[in-house]
Amino acid sequence: MQEQTLATKIKGIDCQHFINGQYVDSINGKTFENINPATQEILGTVSEGGKEEVDLAVAAARKALNGPWKKMTTHDRIAVIRRIGDIILERKDELAQLESLDTGKPYWLADSVDIPRSAYNFHFFADYLRSLGTEAYQTDDVAINYAIRRPVGVVGLINPWNLPLLLLTWKLAPCLAAGNTAVIKPAELTPMTATLLGEICRDAGVPDGVVNIVHGFGPDSAGSALTEHPDVDAISFTGETTTGKIIMAAAAKSLKKLSYELGGKNPNLIFADSNLDEVIETTLKSSFINQGEVCLCGSRIYVERPVYEEFLEKFAAKTKELVVGDPFDPKTKVGALIGEEHYERVTNYIRLAQEEGGEILTGGGRPEGLGKGYYLEPTIIVGLNSNCRVVREEIFGPVVTVIPFDTEEEVIAQANDTHYGLSASIWTNDLRRAHRVAAQIEAGIIWVNTWFLRDLRTPFGGMKQSGIGREGGMHSFEFYSELSNICIKL
Ligand code: NAD
Repeated sequence: MQEQTLATKIKGIDCQHFINGQYVDSINGKTFENINPATQEILGTVSEGGKEEVDLAVAAARKALNGPWKKMTTHDRIAVIRRIGDIILERKDELAQLESLDTGKPYWLADSVDIPRSAYNFHFFADYLRSLGTEAYQTDDVAINYAIRRPVGVVGLINPWNLPLLLLTWKLAPCLAAGNTAVIKPAELTPMTATLLGEICRDAGVPDGVVNIVHGFGPDSAGSALTEHPDVDAISFTGETTTGKIIMAAAAKSLKKLSYELGGKNPNLIFADSNLDEVIETTLKSSFINQGEVCLCGSRIYVERPVYEEFLEKFAAKTKELVVGDPFDPKTKVGALIGEEHYERVTNYIRLAQEEGGEILTGGGRPEGLGKGYYLEPTIIVGLNSNCRVVREEIFGPVVTVIPFDTEEEVIAQANDTHYGLSASIWTNDLRRAHRVAAQIEAGIIWVNTWFLRDLRTPFGGMKQSGIGREGGMHSFEFYSELSNICIKL
C-alpha cells in the first residue's frame, strides 16, 4: 500500500499531441484545462486538436504504414510490442498517479488493475501474434485455398474516460500487433496517461508515425475529424451508445470498418440457493468499484424473493462501510466521479428515482466532511420496477437498483427487457440452472458466480445496442486485419 502523500509527488502534466514521433502544440496554439475531479484543481493544459492536427496525424500514420514498421520482422515487432508493456510496468507508479489524478479513481485501483492490465495487454497480444495462423482448405483435387493476413491500414482509436489507459491499450496492442498504424483520440477528460504512452512507444522502438495521439473533443473537434477523415480505414470506438450512432453516420461516408464497445445496463440475477456472503462481497465490487464507472458494472440487481430481505440488509450494511474520499488515501474504496457534468447527470437520476416512486435505501447524497470534489455516496435504490427510467437507462455511477423476483422465467424476461446487452452475472449453486439461464440471457459476456473475471483470449463485447463485433484474442485480430483468400487451381 502506498503512502498518503503520493498525491504531492506528481501534480499533473501538460498534454500535447504526439504526431510523427514528436510532441507538438496545436497549430493555432489552442488549449483547454484538465481538471482533477477529486479537488477541482487544474492539473494542466491540454492541446486542443481539430481537423488540421488530425490531417497531420493521419498523413504520418499513412506514411509509416509502408515504412520501417512494414519491413520489421514479426519477431522484432513482437519484441517492440512486449517492450511497451515492460516500460509501462517500469513506470507503473507514475502512470497510476496520473490515472488517479485524472479520473478520481483510488490510486490503489489504478496501481493494481489499470496500469498492470495495460502492460499485460501488450504482452498478451505480442505473445498471441507469435502463434497466429490463418485458414487453409483443399477443395478436393481441384484447388487449394489459403488466406493471408494484412493490416487494415490507418486505424482511429477513440476512447472513453473511465479506464483510460487500460481501454486504450486494449485497442492499441492488437492494432500494432496486426501491423497497423494508429491515430488515437483520448477522452478529453483524461488525457494524461495517453500522452505519456507516446513517449513510451517511442522509447520501446516504435517507428515515428506508427502511433499518433491527437487531443480534443468529440463533435466539431478531433473526434469528428477522425471519424470523417477519408484516409482512415477503420475506427475502434468505446463510449456511449448515442455517440456510436453519430460516429456510424460519419464513418458511413467512406465506409470505414467499425468496432464498437458501447454502453450497458447490466443485470445481476441472484438466486436463493447461492452463497449470499460470496454474492455480497462480489456485488459490492460489481456495483461500486471505480465509482460504478465501469461499463460492466451490474446496476440492475434482481434477487429471488426468499433471500431478498436478507440480501438487502447485508448489502446495505456493507455498502455503508465503503470509505468515500481522497483517491490517494489507501482506505478509500470509492473516489470522485469524473466531473461536474457527469455528477449532475448521476445525481439527477437519484432525484428521478424518488419521483418514480423509489426509496433510497442507503446513500443518495454527498458524503459529509469532504471538501471540493465530485464525491457521491454509493447508493442503493429499491421500490422501482422495470418500466422506470432509472432501471432502464445507463447511469454509469455508484447507483444500483434492487428488485425482487419469484420465478426463473420472470427474471430472465426482466434481465432481457433492455436495448442493451453487454454483460450479466448469475448467482446460483444449481449447475443446470446456471447453464440454462446463461444461455437465455441476451448479453455478450455472462459470468456465473463471479464478475469481471477475464481471460483475454475470450470474446469480449456487447450485443443489441451495447456493441458491434468482439474484441479479445483472435477476435481482435479479426478486426485489425484484412484477410485475402488465395485460391490455386491444381
Ligand atoms: P462518450 O461517448 O461521451 O465519449 C467517448 C469518446 O468519444 C471520447 O473520446 C469523446 O471525445 C469521443 N466523441 C464524442 N463524440 C464524438 C463524435 N461525435 N465523434 C467522434 N468522437 C466523439 O463516452 P464517455 O462518456 O467517455 O464514456 C462512457 C461510456 O462508455 C458509457 O456509456 C460506458 O458504458 C461506455 N463504455 C463501454 C465500454 C465497453 O467495453 N462496452 C467500456 C468503457 C466504457
